[in-house]
Formats: sequence, C-alpha cells, structure tokens
Amino acid sequence: CGNPPSVPFPTEAPVSRPLKMTLEAQSAAIAARFDYTDEQVNSAVNEFRRQMTEGLEKDGTSLSQIPTYVTGVPNGTEKGLYMAVDLGGTNFRVCSIQLNGDTTFNLTFSKVAIPRDLMVAKTAQELFAFLAKQIELFLQTHHEDHFEQHVRRRMTMSSPDGYKDEHVFRLGFTFSFPVQQVGINKGTLIRWTKGFDIPDAIGKDVCALLQDEIDKLHLPVKVAALVNDTVGTLMARSYSSPGKTGTVLGAIFGTGTNGAYVEKLSNLKKPLSGEYDKTTGEMVINTEWGSFDNQLSVLPNTEWDVALDKASPNPGIQMYEKRVSGMFLGEILRLVTIDLLKDPKVSFFKDENSSSNDWKSTTNIVSDSSIYTQWGLDTAIMSVAAADNTPELSTLRGELEKQLGIYSAGLDDAQAFKAIANAIGRRSARLSAVAIAAIVLQTGKLTDPANADEPVDIGVDGSLVEHYPYFRDMIYEALSAIDGIGEEGAKRIRIGIAKDGSGVGAALIALVAAGMEKRLTTADYLGELRS
Ligand code: BGC
Repeated sequence: CGNPPSVPFPTEAPVSRPLKMTLEAQSAAIAARFDYTDEQVNSAVNEFRRQMTEGLEKDGTSLSQIPTYVTGVPNGTEKGLYMAVDLGGTNFRVCSIQLNGDTTFNLTFSKVAIPRDLMVAKTAQELFAFLAKQIELFLQTHHEDHFEQHVRRRMTMSSPDGYKDEHVFRLGFTFSFPVQQVGINKGTLIRWTKGFDIPDAIGKDVCALLQDEIDKLHLPVKVAALVNDTVGTLMARSYSSPGKTGTVLGAIFGTGTNGAYVEKLSNLKKPLSGEYDKTTGEMVINTEWGSFDNQLSVLPNTEWDVALDKASPNPGIQMYEKRVSGMFLGEILRLVTIDLLKDPKVSFFKDENSSSNDWKSTTNIVSDSSIYTQWGLDTAIMSVAAADNTPELSTLRGELEKQLGIYSAGLDDAQAFKAIANAIGRRSARLSAVAIAAIVLQTGKLTDPANADEPVDIGVDGSLVEHYPYFRDMIYEALSAIDGIGEEGAKRIRIGIAKDGSGVGAALIALVAAGMEKRLTTADYLGELRS
C-alpha cells in the first residue's frame, strides 16, 4: 500500500516538552554542583582547625587570627553612656548607647548609605572626613545639649586641652575590615574587602585617620576603641544574654562574614606588641575567617566561583567569604543564570518566538536588565525564592519580573531559579557550619565537665542569618553531622541573634578602653563600672 510505515516513537519530540525537561534536569544538575557533603564538611573542619593554630603561631597566614587586646567579655551589669560608629558594609551608622547595667540598653542611631565613589575614593582622608561630618550631624541632632556645651566651650577656651575629660564622648569605632591591631584603639588596615578599594589607606592607623578628621571639626569625641563587628557582636551577646560561661563566639553572616572568639592566652604564640591585661588568661581573637583556605584545599570551587573571583577587585583573597556571604551569593546565582540564558538548548526565561542569533535577544528579559551586569542580582531575591513554597511560586515570579525586567516569568523558569538559588544558599549554610564547629571544638566547651549542663552560646548578626529562611536550620543540620559534635552536641549549641551588636559591642569595648586608660585590670574595671 501507499501509506508510509508508521513510526512507533517520534524521532523528534514536540518542542515544548523536551525543553522543559531539559530545564528541570539541567537545573537539578547545576544544583548538585553546589552539594557539599558531610564528608567534605568534616574535612573542612579539620583544615579550619589546622589553619586556626597556624594563625595563632605566626603572621601572614590564611586565617589572620588577629589579637584584639580585649581580654574579657561582659556579664550584663556594665553601665555608662558611650558613642559608637560602624563602617563595614553598605551603610555608616552613628549611635549613642546608654548601658543600663541590667542587660538592657537604650540606643539612638542614624544611618547613611556610603556613597559608592567614597568606597573607592582616591584618598582615605575623603572617606574619613565624610564619617566625621556624620558624627557632627548626629551630635547636633541627638545630643544637642552636649553639642551646645561643646560649641560654647570651644568659643571660650584658649586651648583644646581646656576640655574637661568627662565632657568628651568615648567612641567605639567598629571598622569591619582586616586590621593589624596593635592596641585597643590603634590598628593598621591590612586590606579592604566587600567592594571597598582605597589603596592609600592600606597600612595606616584607621583610628588616627578618624580622630584627625574629628579634631578638624573640634568635636568632643575621643576614638577610644577599635572594634571589628564580630568582636562587637561577641560583646553585645555576652552583655544581653549572659550565661555561666559567657558567649564563646561572635559571628557575622551578612554582606561579609567573619568570627571572633575567646582564646586562651597560652595558645597565642605569636608576639603581641601592645599592652593588655594578662590576669584573665584569655583574649578575644578576630579570626578574619573570610580568608579561610584561600589556597582552596577544602573549599568547593565551581566554574562560577572561579568566574566571580576573577572579576572581583581582590582575586585569590577572601575565598571562604566569596562562597558564604550575602555580597557574593547573588552574584554566583547571576553567573549561573547568565550561563543558562546563553545556552540555546535550555528553555530558561526564553522568548519562544525569537530566532535571533544574539543570545540576549532570545530571552524574555528587557535589554537593560541588571541581570546583565556584575552585582546586578540582589542576594535578597534568594530569600524570596526560599520562602515561596506556594505551588505557583507567584511571589517569586512577581519579584523576578519586577526586579529583573522579565516580561513573564513562567513556573518552570521560577522552579529552576529556586532550585539553583536554594542550592547556593544551602552550600553557604553548610560552609558556615564549618567555621562554627571548628571554633566550638577549639574552645573545648562541649566536653568540659564544668560546662556540662550549659549551652554553648554563639552570637550572630547579619542579613543572611537574620533574613535568609532556614539558614540556621541548615547550619544545625550540618553541625549534627560533624565528628565531635553530633546530634547531641548540636542541640547544646545555642545560636542567637545579637541585635545591634556593632553599636552595643563597640560601646562595651569603649568602656573596657576607659578602664584601661585608668590602668585597671579587666576584673577591676568591670567591677568599678558595675558599681
Ligand atoms: C571583613 C571582616 C568583617 C566581615 C563582616 C569581612 O569582609 O574582612 O573584618 O568582620 O566582613 O562584616
């Protein structure tokens, strides 16, 4: 007969179905590239501990392990009025803090976005002059009485020494970049991170830079303490949630990431140049764990991690931070998204009617979408993706359309986007557990019989840990798979938010510094200020 032979299976499947399957399969395969197994987590913990010890012994190591000269943590009974400023991410915050001595405090603050051109200014002086100006505005607005007195005094006094010491605000300067600290209010900048880049500031004492600009404005403010935000978080958490053994770790999971913990002085083998009180036998160490494993012996390294690093202002540095913190997760996701958009075989945010050869024209995204530019995808959208568990993913699809100029975000597209975003977020949380576990194990608190019934307290702050859904749950899940911690140990680790860590913590360290000025021991000044 003249009929063609029937074909049992179509040689070419209908267009839409295999493309959709490809997308699902493709996104699952990409998500799997971000798996970080229990075994990998365990070997990273061992390596983290090795790098911690190395950093305590010598300078110039991957984990800097910076001594902070803070030799005790508070217990909630400290009192006084202090100022604090915070430079470390997208905003500059100025605050005054009244410590009430009963674990509570009152905080007044103002916040201003740091102009992008100052983050990469030609001279450090330009940035610090801006900061001093904000301090002046804050005093004018919130401490008018203090400010008025100061203006009057300035007009009548013959020399700046005419100031009475009690009229001078003690200020804790939270400066959240790696600094070689040589005293409680002195330290030189090692390197910039998080998109800042002012080469002229490297090697300079950042407290002196700020004090000089404050003095030019004749403000009654003394930069009394130099504080990393993690140290502030540790202090603030100890003040607000005091326990028998105090808080062992303060950590930031925000724009950047880092942790500070209490170490035995006997383990700190590298020489210390500044003065400090030796009676407590302890010192807070700023690990600068953002640069853990810059040599990539245990960190995962996908092609997107490689691309991100290559295009960053500091290639080869902050390799752990680049896989963990908020500034970078959105960018990793963006790079994966771009690769999928470029792939003609994958139907991801594609305009099905386009037959153009130019990959951008084949997408259903506006041509000037921020998705096409570096840092153009805000990490916050990953929180939306993780939180949207509706069958239609309508919130996520709406956000994708609004933020990225996508004409119409299909369900398949949003599902693929969510799967990849979640995988990147989960890897970040599991890597975060590595640092937390290593430090908990280093303190020995889980096995110390004297601490048997106590939780091991950790204070955390930052947008990721505060706003990324399930971040802490995923950390706990990884912790319970770590040798030496396990499910029982993970239950005893209490990870709590330390709100306003950088303000309150800096005030507490300014208090420590005030005690040091009077040459009191840590026990004495805490005692004196409590009374
Ligand atoms: C900085 C740290 C800081 C952390 C969190 C990192 O980029 O190097 O000093 O503590 O960000 O803000």
